[in-house]
This record gives sequence, structure tokens and C-alpha cells, in this order.
Amino acid sequence: MRIARFSIDGNVAFGAVEGDSPDSLVLDIIKGIPYADFELSGTKVPLKKVRLLPPVLPNKVVAIGRNYAEHAAELGNEVPDVPITFFKPTTSVIGSGDAIEYPSFSDDLHHEAELAVVIGRMCREVPRERVKDVIFGYTCANDVTARDVQQREKQWARAKGFDTSCPLGPWVETDVDPGNLAIQATVNGEQRQLGRTSDMIRSIEDLVVHITEAMTLLPGDVILTGTPAGVGPLHVGDEVAVTIEGIGTLTNKVIKRG
Ligand code: MG
Repeated sequence: MRIARFSIDGNVAFGAVEGDSPDSLVLDIIKGIPYADFELSGTKVPLKKVRLLPPVLPNKVVAIGRNYAEHAAELGNEVPDVPITFFKPTTSVIGSGDAIEYPSFSDDLHHEAELAVVIGRMCREVPRERVKDVIFGYTCANDVTARDVQQREKQWARAKGFDTSCPLGPWVETDVDPGNLAIQATVNGEQRQLGRTSDMIRSIEDLVVHITEAMTLLPGDVILTGTPAGVGPLHVGDEVAVTIEGIGTLTNKVIKRG
């Protein structure tokens, strides 16, 4: 099931996305909370008529650095012995169709297409064999990065945590096997990144075990699993799209911060 969060006429709701053709998708409004028991109301609205919001409101976004060997190599980095983890703040999260605001303190903004894991239940110290039980679904993410700031500053909080640096969406897919999916980024329709999730160095199981060894994850929390090779610059006016096979396409335009 594809579950979107959206607003229409000032009201916010979750809905199940129905249909196959991008132009005729409809949302069946959900009664209840998607992570817990819910039912479909049968009240449907065309997707075209709503504004998509980030599909979840995470308590935290935990991101993984250098999880694809070719991407580590393209920036001259080694694959780390222990996964690199960092946070993107909740204020960095935007939805599909929202604008990425080019930060004033950077001259080298990059896209990073990533598979995002959405957690479905509160969990800590999750054993490997239970990882699938704590995952709600998957969505597309763009770990937008001020590359020059990342290289200048020891911690990545500003480089990867500025407002609008975490597009998520367009919805959460709850029924996809994430093990071997094509993942790509295009800028203005031109392909920049193309990889497969099977090329991750640490699997989703590895990452959930590693992260929950340290911290409790809550329903709606998000794990960004790293980006394949091909990262590159974004400029004001560009439209960047992250597409993951079996999930959908996350599209955002880059604007000057007003
Ligand atoms: Mg990244």
C-alpha cells in the first residue's frame, strides 16, 4: 500500500494512493493512524487536487554516510570501518513538490538520492531477525548537502541540516522488498545518479541493529541509507527528482532563499 500525507482546504490527512496512471491517482482518506490500526474511509480525492506533505513527521532522521563504495570513492573517501551516522533535524524535512532553498552560506549544493526506511513501532536493541517487524515502509529521500560546508566543518549539522535539506516522499510504500531496487536522481530530466540498493555496503538489517544499539526509534522515524555514485551540483531553478523502483518519484525545485 502507498500511504501519503496531504493537505486539502486547510485539512491534513493520510490517504491510501490508488490507481496506476500518474494523472489519475486518487487518495482514499485513512481513518486512524497509519502505524497503528486504521481503516479506509471510502472518501476519495484526486491526488492532483491536494498538496502532498512529507509522508511522515519524524521525531528524528538518522542518516548514514558512505554506504555505497563507488560514492565514497568519487569523493576520495574510504569506506568507513563503522557506519557514519548523523542526524538531519525535523525542520529540514519537506515533501514532494516543496522547494529546496539554496543556503546563503554555500556555493556548492549537491543532490544525494537515497532509500529512506520508515519505522513503524517504538524499538530499541532490535535483533537482526526482528528488523522487518519494526519497519513500516520505504520512501524516497534526497540528502541535500552543502558540499563545501561539509568539507570545511568537522560536524555536518549545518552542511546537511539546513532548512529544506531533507525532501521525503512522495509517499510511503509498505509492500516493497527493498533489497535490489534501482535508485536514480535526475536534474532537469538529465540522469545524474543511477545505482541499485543491492550495492549498499551495510544492509538495512545492519543499520537498524547498529542504530538501535544506541537509541530508541519511534514510529515515523526515518533512516537514510546512503547514496550511490553520481552526486553533483544543484543550482537555483533546477528541478531534482529521486526515483526508486517500486516506490515512486520525489520531485523538488531549487529556489533562492527569500
Ligand atoms: Mg547521504
